[in-house]
Amino acid sequence: NAFAELGLAPELVQAVADLGYTKPTGVQEQAIPLAMNSGGEQPFVDLMVSSQTGSGKTAAFLLPVLHTLIGQKAEEDAKARAEYERQCAEAAASGQPQPKRNKRKDPTNPRNFKAAVPGALILCPTRELAQQVAHDAIELVKHCRGIRIANIVGGMPYQLQIAKLQNANLVVATPGRLLDLQRSLQIKLDQVQFLVVDEADRMLDLGFADDLAEVNQLTSQRKQTMMFSATFAPRIQQLAMRVMHDNGANVQ
Ligand code: AMP
Repeated sequence: NAFAELGLAPELVQAVADLGYTKPTGVQEQAIPLAMNSGGEQPFVDLMVSSQTGSGKTAAFLLPVLHTLIGQKAEEDAKARAEYERQCAEAAASGQPQPKRNKRKDPTNPRNFKAAVPGALILCPTRELAQQVAHDAIELVKHCRGIRIANIVGGMPYQLQIAKLQNANLVVATPGRLLDLQRSLQIKLDQVQFLVVDEADRMLDLGFADDLAEVNQLTSQRKQTMMFSATFAPRIQQLAMRVMHDNGANVQ
């Protein structure tokens, strides 16, 4: 499978194979290696990508972001395992019973409420697109343990969304509802490392410029920004100038 040659995590290569993708589309071939930071020593580059619906653009941004989240999760798990083993060894040495592993708490119980702190945020102009992107993301992580996807869009029951949000690693959202949840402290954006703006031209057509500016500020610590747009009209270029932290690479 040609996706393996891009250096993607085996769980993702398996998922694209299951979906029947045999080789990357043009935009995937160009954007994925640029967006990934395989050595980990260079900073991530920002990308501005011109792409139409049907080009495979969704996987072009989901795959590199998920790849990094998977790598980070594996590192955290290894640390947690080592710490647990250390505690077990300590207990054994002092004749104590073996410590219990931390169980995940029931997220629907309000007493266990924690604000969501996703590592990646994908912004979409419409509810339908956000649902499609979240659906694709869920397909792509089906072989990964512990990577959770949440979808935040207007018009869905609030409580259900909030329960699903907890422990989400990647959030796919429309800007309005995302900012509502941010203002009511259900979600914190200060751990977002990766920001993707999908269909940036439609985002501006639908009047989301101010919301984008706000998300841009709330996620100013992020490592990477990717903007996808069908057109590169001057107003999109201006948006890119504002949201890109480095000069960015253009993929046409
Ligand atoms: P998108 O442009 O992201 O909306 O994707 C358009 C369609 O192409 C979706 O139905 C994807 O499932 C499909 N697709 C994405 N990448 C590939 C690929 N590498 N090979 C075959 N189909 C793909």
